Amino acid sequence: MAGEPQADCLFCKIVAGDVPATIVRETETTVAFRDINPQAPTHVLVIPKEHHRDAATLAAEAPQAAADVLREAREVAVHDGVEATGYRVVFNTGSGAGQTVFHAHAHVLGGRGLNWPPG
Ligand code: IMP
Repeated sequence: MAGEPQADCLFCKIVAGDVPATIVRETETTVAFRDINPQAPTHVLVIPKEHHRDAATLAAEAPQAAADVLREAREVAVHDGVEATGYRVVFNTGSGAGQTVFHAHAHVLGGRGLNWPPG
């Protein structure tokens, strides 16, 4: 069923507390934790607690959770003190775009200059 935890999903395991993560914030519907391979001084992943394979699926299946993820992205930026200088929110969607973990997640990047277009 849409949203159900998947036994083989790394981020479902983080939600369950079965894999350790450096948690930045947690709400009823989301968890934000530091990326294990940070690409900027602030590099936090915001995920819905429910399992949806990517951002597009999340938006279609659980629009309120998608909105919660976006709201939390801003809260993370405030938490890390990068909101005023600017930050980037990225959803890699599909393997061709670099998605490697198929549980929807927003990358929140900040704390350094960010070029456009991204690589
Ligand atoms: P994607 O490539 O957009 O799917 O992003 C997946 C992200 O998850 C990558 O930036 C990885 O560095 C990160 N990642 C993978 N495993 C872990 C972990 O156990 N904890 C935190 N971040 C992770």
